Amino acid sequence: MCSTHVPRANLLYSPRNKILATSLLIEAFLYEEQTRRGVSLKHFDEFGDVADHCTVCHKCVNPCPVDIDFGDVSIAMRNLLRKGGHKKFNPGTAASMFFLNATDPTTIKLVKTLLIDWGYRAQRLAYRFAKTTGVVRAQAKRPPPTVGRPPLKSQVIHFVNKPMPAGVPRRTARALLDIEDDTVVPIIRDPARPADDGEAVFYFPGCGSERLFSQVGLATQAMLFHVGAQTVLPPGYLCCGYPQTSAGNHDEGLRITTANRVLFHRVANTLNYLDIRTVIVSCGTCMDQLLKYEFDRIFPGCRLLDIHEYLMEKGVRLDGVEGTRYLYHDPCHTPMKTYAPLAVVRDLVGKDVALADRCCGESGTLAVSRPDVSTQVRFRKEEEMRRGAAALRGDGFAGDVKVLTSCPSCLQGLSRFADDAGTQADYIVVEIAKRVLGERWMADYVAKATAGGIERVLV
Ligand code: SF4
Repeated sequence: MCSTHVPRANLLYSPRNKILATSLLIEAFLYEEQTRRGVSLKHFDEFGDVADHCTVCHKCVNPCPVDIDFGDVSIAMRNLLRKGGHKKFNPGTAASMFFLNATDPTTIKLVKTLLIDWGYRAQRLAYRFAKTTGVVRAQAKRPPPTVGRPPLKSQVIHFVNKPMPAGVPRRTARALLDIEDDTVVPIIRDPARPADDGEAVFYFPGCGSERLFSQVGLATQAMLFHVGAQTVLPPGYLCCGYPQTSAGNHDEGLRITTANRVLFHRVANTLNYLDIRTVIVSCGTCMDQLLKYEFDRIFPGCRLLDIHEYLMEKGVRLDGVEGTRYLYHDPCHTPMKTYAPLAVVRDLVGKDVALADRCCGESGTLAVSRPDVSTQVRFRKEEEMRRGAAALRGDGFAGDVKVLTSCPSCLQGLSRFADDAGTQADYIVVEIAKRVLGERWMADYVAKATAGGIERVLV
């Protein structure tokens, strides 16, 4: 089950091995402390190495006979290292956190241009060069062990051995709709319908669906618009607090969570006439974090649902998709908690969908903070992707094979296998928006929403 246990990729950080290593390190700390020899700083590097080798997927908890959730242990280890000042600076993590923590629209725009638009383009150029010259071949064939950090040159090759996605929208969803002001709550509804017609839902887009892959947030809104819902968005750019918590910055995660909960109580008080009974998310880690927000105390009687579950309940279904076959990658942090995820996807796309197992290797910021570990995790996923795509093409099918998912980070991770498995990665709700609303769905939705479809309420 464990994402970081792939022996043939030299990755032997199984939960059991990590539990043993952590226990031995604790024994070493105790021994050195009690015998007053002075705690060896080297142990902190080893401790950090164990903590780095975990995608915090929590898949070890069910099979574990002694109920150890090594995902939680890894987070605790990261916190301990940070508090003691022993966490090593990582430029990849620092850049990602800066982007996620930013709330000012100008800063977000600037960082997005530098990191995502220019950074991804440069990475793809480097990938093409490395692929043509064969630099990445050895790494991809058999990833080297990752005990301790590899040299910089090797890390750079790990970082470019699979391409970052192209075609990421340049502007955020909020910028496109002109709702970046954090003093107003936008309510989006079809102006052609009566104002009190249609269920009101609160949609928390999170960073991945709003500032990174804004097509996901827009497709979610467009489909809510299509089914006649009134969509209430939070005021301004907000992160849920999950990335900070899982990276070992519990204090920052708690600060963000508390600030958001206070803000949402104010939103609920202002909009109590709307009777919001459903909170929608489009990201698995947002769902995991929002489950801790006690939303039933913010919007009494409400439930948390993933957009795909909501659309299934509303009877949205694609009928007769020709020329495309689908795989589904269920994220380690699946946002679908009310219904079985694969059943939801099959119901929505109206045909059989095969499951593509294993972690995609992106795991939030893992691919930029530890690209060497990510290469090893991707090694296993690549096998799964090739096998899944080959099975769908087994009868001579020559159309598109798409791998659908429901997590922005996985969308990025899966898009990196396009050259290996000949697949295209997409979000379920984006695929549905394309098929139901037409290829121009995004421009049409932005035009409709900005033509009198957005009410702005001061909060
Ligand atoms: S949380 Fe996931 S990656 Fe971490 S030890 Fe458990 S199964 Fe492995």
